[in-house]
Amino acid sequence: MTTKGWLDGDAALITGAGSGIGQAVALRYLREGAKGVAIFGRDAKRLQQTVDAAGIDGDRILPLVGDVRSTADLNAAVQATVDRFGSLDVLVPNAGIWDFNRSITRTTPDEIESIYDELFDINVKGYLLTVSAAWRALVAARGSIVMTLSNAAFYPAGGGAVYTAAKHAARGLVAQLAYELAPKVRVNGVAIGGLRTDLRGPAAAGMSQRSIEQSFAKRDGQAGTNMWIPLHDASTDPVDSTGAYVYLGSRREAGTVTGAIVNADGGIGVRGF
Ligand code: NAD
Repeated sequence: MTTKGWLDGDAALITGAGSGIGQAVALRYLREGAKGVAIFGRDAKRLQQTVDAAGIDGDRILPLVGDVRSTADLNAAVQATVDRFGSLDVLVPNAGIWDFNRSITRTTPDEIESIYDELFDINVKGYLLTVSAAWRALVAARGSIVMTLSNAAFYPAGGGAVYTAAKHAARGLVAQLAYELAPKVRVNGVAIGGLRTDLRGPAAAGMSQRSIEQSFAKRDGQAGTNMWIPLHDASTDPVDSTGAYVYLGSRREAGTVTGAIVNADGGIGVRGF
């Protein structure tokens, strides 16, 4: 008996796939039978790490260097994906940055402007520009979009006000784009929770040299700090969050699902905000 992968024969394009959740989704999509995965990010070395991590499947990965704030980079990436794999079936807008839980009381108006401009440009405008570059190819393939959201798309305390507002905005993109692109393209989201990745902050605000991993590390050993995610602690491997991306990306399994968001955040919401 041949086991069929949930993404057999599909090609995906994933932004921010040189590390963290994007890398985990890329590797998982290959294991689910994707014919190819294009990985887009601004750092060639990181993209190579994803290729290396794929082992012999690395020959089905297409690394593409670019910035999600650049329409030219994104158009070139979509074209390269279709040229190499013959179609674009699943788009995963995922590249993002964080604001290190910066509260309004600790932030000057100038800092708010620099954090807001860079974070919204990447986390919200970047998602929109990514979809703008890809929708024609997705329509041609009757494909789908799976956006990375966050617990911060639903609840407070997953970031500061800027990050939380940006993830709420991305949640709005799921609803609106699902409406606009139906019936040809499905649009869904995965709201993942706190993970120890390399997630950085806005360079303009001096936050690009730190990562969320360091924030978690600071809290290691402090009583009760891992209890805020009911199902796991933040050291959970990002691969554990990838099942929802497989399901939502699968034409066969989720062909009637659009405008939906899977809360794969370890149950943060059951704390009752
Ligand atoms: P990560 O830093 O490991 O991955 C983000 C990737 O995006 C990096 O490889 C980075 O180089 C890339 N990137 C950043 N800005 C870019 C740009 N302008 N153009 C192209 N690439 C760019 O962090 P991660 O945790 O895997 O983050 C992935 C997504 O998950 C983000 O959207 C983040 O908001 C979301 N998220 C993360 C957490 C968490 O706790 N780590 C929780 C909820 C949601």
